[in-house]
Amino acid sequence: MFDKWRRWRAELFEARHPFPQDAWDEARARVPLLASLIDDDEATRLGHRAWRFAHAKRLTLHPTLAETTRFDLPARLVLAGQACLLTMNWQEHEHAEAFANVHEILVLPDAFSRRVEEMDEFGVMHEYEDERAGETSYQGPVVVSFADLMASGDWTGFNVLIHELAHKLDMGNASDIDGFPPLPRDIDPREWHRIFTAAWDDLQAQLARGSEPPIDDYAASHPGECYAVCCEYFFAAPDILAEAYPELYALLGQYFRQDPLARLQAGSQAQASSVSRPATSQSHNSDASS
Ligand SMILES: [Zn+2]
Repeated sequence: MFDKWRRWRAELFEARHPFPQDAWDEARARVPLLASLIDDDEATRLGHRAWRFAHAKRLTLHPTLAETTRFDLPARLVLAGQACLLTMNWQEHEHAEAFANVHEILVLPDAFSRRVEEMDEFGVMHEYEDERAGETSYQGPVVVSFADLMASGDWTGFNVLIHELAHKLDMGNASDIDGFPPLPRDIDPREWHRIFTAAWDDLQAQLARGSEPPIDDYAASHPGECYAVCCEYFFAAPDILAEAYPELYALLGQYFRQDPLARLQAGSQAQASSVSRPATSQSHNSDASS
């Protein structure tokens, strides 16, 4: 019933705002994570969702950024496309509900600092300046730094937008982050807890003995950050996450209903076969894409 209504709304929207196929193609060409969608149906579905998302959510650029940066339509679709990548394979109503608490995306020129007050286990208050690439709150905007947004979108495991939106999903059932988003019926909350606790314990143990953890150690700072960092790796460095914590990778695959590792591997196979093609010229061919 509701899906029928949502479909009708989507059709009405697209009749008024025809889908900009060229801008979407350009957006995909700019960002490896979006370029990796090899299934045409998937890429088209994501494009249309991103187009509606770009209209439904307010995008605000900091005034100094608005003066100096051309945030063109493909750039807006790059942003919206990465946001909708998380819920790409969820039903329309699930996607809409998951991001109902995203009203605005605010882009600041650079990383920003926040004064943080924290009580330690002995009751001593510590104050410090915390440098941030992004932040969000229950009903507040998703704030991201432009520099970090530009550094996102590839396979390095860093993606500020996916990180902050993972927090928004987390806050679908509580006003604060706890690493426990609303779960679909086919995921047992006890399994979720067991698998994330195992990764958390492993990170703590590795840090305690002074070794470098397989994923960003920010994941060890709070269970909510552990979940958000794992989401970043799931989409942007699935090979690292799958190797370090295979059960957790599989769990997130079930949660997000997709397999970014397959996309990464298909992409690198395609790249390897184009690299191994016999050279026809002596000149060095430098790849402009990054
Ligand atoms: Zn975070």
